[in-house]
Amino acid sequence: MVLNIAMDGPVGAGKSSIAKAVADRLGILHLDTGAMYRAVGLSAIRAGVDLQDEAAVTAHTRQIDVAVAHSAQGQRTIVNGEDVTDYIRTPEVSMAASTVGKYAGVRREMVAIQQKLAASTPMLVDGRDICVRVLPGATVKLFLTASAEERARRRWNEMKDKPDAPSYEEVLRDLRARDAQDMNREVDPLRPTEDAVIVDSTEMNFEQVVAYILKIVEEKTHE
Ligand code: C5P
Repeated sequence: MVLNIAMDGPVGAGKSSIAKAVADRLGILHLDTGAMYRAVGLSAIRAGVDLQDEAAVTAHTRQIDVAVAHSAQGQRTIVNGEDVTDYIRTPEVSMAASTVGKYAGVRREMVAIQQKLAASTPMLVDGRDICVRVLPGATVKLFLTASAEERARRRWNEMKDKPDAPSYEEVLRDLRARDAQDMNREVDPLRPTEDAVIVDSTEMNFEQVVAYILKIVEEKTHE
């Protein structure tokens, strides 16, 4: 069986960087599914689609081709052949991703692509619905989290020296808004499944979290 590791968690839990480090140590690929929802959000904004219009966003999603490529630096995310990786990390696209991610038709399209990728290749897949929807049969299921204040503090630390950096309070407010939207949506809301191991990183540093997850993977793959 192909090794699939499913990792879910809220905004700013460090999923992407932790997932990349764990996947690199295991010599498997890391699929960042959030980047795919971001790509859909960006594409819809650029096309002038009203993000609140579910039917229009869903139709737009069906018309575009969302793909990923893996380089030594990590995942590149591609829409209709254009590498959009450098344009999908803005606050506007973050919120757009969360909005388009509410729509069942959009989720169906993304889940199908993700399942196809993970079926044939050993992969660590991170997102919000991976344990419950994308890879319900994954060998290892993880829910990575930390307190909202700690997640906002880490986010803010990464961007505080950039021009036009938001304040800590703004970062915390945006993070709570996105958490609320992700946890309260009707289709596959973010929540830990019963069979997921909850990893609370509030009191752990990066290396400790990576080591802890590698230990869980080791245990689960030898069960
Ligand atoms: O993980 P990231 O912050 O890049 O995800 C952006 C948004 O995409 C999330 O806030 C969430 O609404 C959506 N998403 C999702 N399902 C996933 C991954 C991300 O709904 N599997």
